Amino acid sequence: MIIAVDGPTASGKGTIAKALGRHFRLPHLDTGLLYRAVGYQVKLNGGDPSDPDEAQGATNFPDELLGHPELRSEETGGLASRVSVHPAVRKALFERQRAFAKQEGGAVLDGRDIGTVIAPDADVKLFVTASVEARAQRRWKEMQERGESHTLLEIEDDLRRRDERDTNRKNAPLVAAEDAVLLDTSDLDREQAITKAIEIVNQATGQQPCP
Ligand code: C5P
Repeated sequence: MIIAVDGPTASGKGTIAKALGRHFRLPHLDTGLLYRAVGYQVKLNGGDPSDPDEAQGATNFPDELLGHPELRSEETGGLASRVSVHPAVRKALFERQRAFAKQEGGAVLDGRDIGTVIAPDADVKLFVTASVEARAQRRWKEMQERGESHTLLEIEDDLRRRDERDTNRKNAPLVAAEDAVLLDTSDLDREQAITKAIEIVNQATGQQPCP
């Protein structure tokens, strides 16, 4: 079974995808991490993420980079969003994601274009959304816990900029697949969102809920 989970930054899609992987015993790939690695590699190379050639050159980042703590930072998220507009970068990362989706037994992948480009054949597609305000509030809390200081307004502005870039890019924009089920997590806590996502998968695949 392939489960595609798409949605904007801080919508809860990563948490949901990870939990679905655990629940249905499927391997999980956070595809945003691949774009983050490319963005960070461009920085390490001293390059410009807006330059298509420099961004493409960074797609051969070493695998160890995927574990680098800097990949999780807001700054790297911004770099990822900038390199991800280049078709050559998306093409270079395609096969890796596709192979993960097609592995025997299935997989859960989360990102922006899983249901539309990487796995249009997924058995279940979830599009996870939440209001900008709810997402900014979550991000702010996470950052407080990590000791990073940003105002709520700065975070909201950054989320809006990234949404705008992800939604309006020509190549594989952030958009719900026609056959995706929408899950709005604005008013749900973590456990409620996970429970709802499991219900959606069970319904879509005709499985009985696990006790
Ligand atoms: O999900 P995450 O915030 O880690 O993604 C970072 C950036 O990578 C996104 O803002 C988006 O521009 C890009 N991305 C993408 N396609 C994916 C996953 C992430 O374009 N499948």
